[in-house]
Amino acid sequence: MTTNFINSAYIEELLEEAKFTDNAGIRRSLDKAQEGEALSHKEIACLLVNNNEEHLKRIYEIAGMIKKRIYGSRIVMFAPLYVSDFCINSCTYCSFNKEHVFNRSKLTMDEIRQEVKALEMMGHKRLAIESGEADAQCSIDYIIECIKTIYDMKFENGEIRRINVNIAASTEDNYRKLKNAGIGTYILFQETYHEPTYKIVHPAGPKSDFHWHLNAFDRAADAGIDDVGGGVLFGLADPRFEVMGLLLHNEHLEKKYNFGFHTISVPRLCPASGMNINNFPNLVDDETFAKIVAIIRIALPFTGMILSTRENHDMRKKLLQLGISQISAGSKTEVGGYSKNRQTTSQFLVNDERSATSIISELMDDGYIPSFCTACYRGGRTGDRFMSLAKSGEIKNVCLPNALMTLCEYAMDYGGGIFTQKTAGIIEKEILNIANESIRQKTIENINNIRAGKGRDFFV
Ligand code: SAM
Ligand code: SF4
Repeated sequence: MTTNFINSAYIEELLEEAKFTDNAGIRRSLDKAQEGEALSHKEIACLLVNNNEEHLKRIYEIAGMIKKRIYGSRIVMFAPLYVSDFCINSCTYCSFNKEHVFNRSKLTMDEIRQEVKALEMMGHKRLAIESGEADAQCSIDYIIECIKTIYDMKFENGEIRRINVNIAASTEDNYRKLKNAGIGTYILFQETYHEPTYKIVHPAGPKSDFHWHLNAFDRAADAGIDDVGGGVLFGLADPRFEVMGLLLHNEHLEKKYNFGFHTISVPRLCPASGMNINNFPNLVDDETFAKIVAIIRIALPFTGMILSTRENHDMRKKLLQLGISQISAGSKTEVGGYSKNRQTTSQFLVNDERSATSIISELMDDGYIPSFCTACYRGGRTGDRFMSLAKSGEIKNVCLPNALMTLCEYAMDYGGGIFTQKTAGIIEKEILNIANESIRQKTIENINNIRAGKGRDFFV
């Protein structure tokens, strides 16, 4: 049975009423957010509609403060892996839509191995499998085979330790299969919570059913998946409506299943072949996008936020300060893109084309700790267990040591020269921020072991 927990009349009313909130009211809400108190729907709506420079400045400051308090300087790294571009849907924004004529393909298991080898050589430990929807060419059994193939691969420098999956909304039975295959996060973007827009941009195919798509996480949760990542494609409808939609969706999951989104992705519409970006009247400019990211950070402090290479270098730099906690690096958005064994079409054009190494190195120059940690999922800290860890404040004693140990491993395996020195400097400085004495000592011991080649893959 599907339910519609997105009450659009309620959202529209909130956004309309919010226009009449006075400055004193907004200041009170911002004071609350600064003190770590949760904001109501009404208060979030007020922040969304407000364009006053003074408030905007504070929104950015508070988002940055929350980001620092909860996530410290860690940035989790990942890469997408496109396995198939066959698709039976007609999403008007996507290059893989079924009307677009190009040479489609899916990877064989040997090709998957080549792609994963290329990703592993960049240092990646966490992948997100991506595909179009096409049961005939890319069934759930094919996806499961991809997952098994990847988890079975072992390299001199370790292995892919976590596979997230971003594939079409599916049935409870299929979600059970994904769960049994050991997926990390099941990621699915609602694209837009605004039903009339949803219908326009999804004119045909199974994805055109708004309610089927909206209830996908319910079916996944009923199948035992308790680690889910939501998102919207900014640029389709009013971004303020979308943020309220994300909040209502998250609340629905929390009420019904006791866990909300582990992550929220914030893709923004980019040009792609087979679509015309000028057909989209709600494109989001840089300033509005930064404000949206900051408000999501304030509204859902404990939910990780993912940014992809859809954004250029400068934008990524800015958004990292405002709330993003996970980024992709060295990404290719076409099937076979890493080992370059095909002439094909990418899903969208990548705006940050720097190599993984240069992104990672620059993150460190900017004071961040690139993290290759995959511990939560492997230690069974998903769903409500992850949320209670995050809310307890103990995350610092868990994620920081894991980030430092995995960064040390990365430097040993892929670094050298200045890079290794840079990493050593960060580890030395950040290790002092591990509050728990025994965890700090254990981390020092593990790092010494990694450096001496006496062990790897340590995590708290
Ligand atoms: N096919 C599945 C689905 O549609 O849910 C899996 C996801 S698809 C491979 C990944 C995401 O790329 C889509 O959910 C969509 O939000 C995003 N996307 C598609 N076209 C895009 C474009 N032109 N610019 C930015 N993101 C785009
Ligand atoms: Fe297919 Fe997904 Fe692209 Fe839609 S967004 S056309 S479902 S790959």
